[in-house]
Amino acid sequence: MDLVFFGIQGSGKGTQAKRLVEEFGYYMFEAGGELRKIKASGTELGNTVARYIDNGELVPFDIIMQVVKEAVAAVPADQQILFDGIPRDEDQKKAFDEILSAAGREFTCLHMLLSKDEAVERIKGRAEIEGRVDDADQEKVLRRMELFEEKTKPVIAEYAAQGIVVEVDGNGSVDEIYERIKTALHL
Ligand code: AMP
Repeated sequence: MDLVFFGIQGSGKGTQAKRLVEEFGYYMFEAGGELRKIKASGTELGNTVARYIDNGELVPFDIIMQVVKEAVAAVPADQQILFDGIPRDEDQKKAFDEILSAAGREFTCLHMLLSKDEAVERIKGRAEIEGRVDDADQEKVLRRMELFEEKTKPVIAEYAAQGIVVEVDGNGSVDEIYERIKTALHL
């Protein structure tokens, strides 16, 4: 069973996802990471992607969905995938559901809950450590959080209505949260 990881920027889902990958061998698909690789490629596509990432806006639908499609096609059917950062809006959800269903893959969703204020504090620290341009600019960080609230939360609500969302409290230490996640997912 694949896992689709949701959480506001700064919720710590990246850290938790890495631990799940290490312990359970998921294939990691991190939408933002894949897009940052394209940004760094120096191609025309990379420059287009950069304009969106650097402004905290969503990269156009066709670009991100092509990346997802290629990744899913490259992963063997018996290998579980952990998706982080996709789907982020209703259109992406529709396309994502179709891609996974066409590949015969099933998934469950995990939503890490954290208040916006707490998330803002955490992300300030991350910008200093990782040197990310889009994390350093408070305005861009707030824009990404706004997009999460406006566009991604309705997606999570739809999955919740389908009964495939597990919620985990994102407050506490990395270890505490990780244990909560494993318990919630029966891992
Ligand atoms: P993240 O690392 O998940 O915060 O993503 C960093 C940036 O990558 C976002 O602010 C967007 O510009 C872009 N991005 C990541 N995931 C997506 C997605 N599913 N759709 C469009 N753009 C995305």
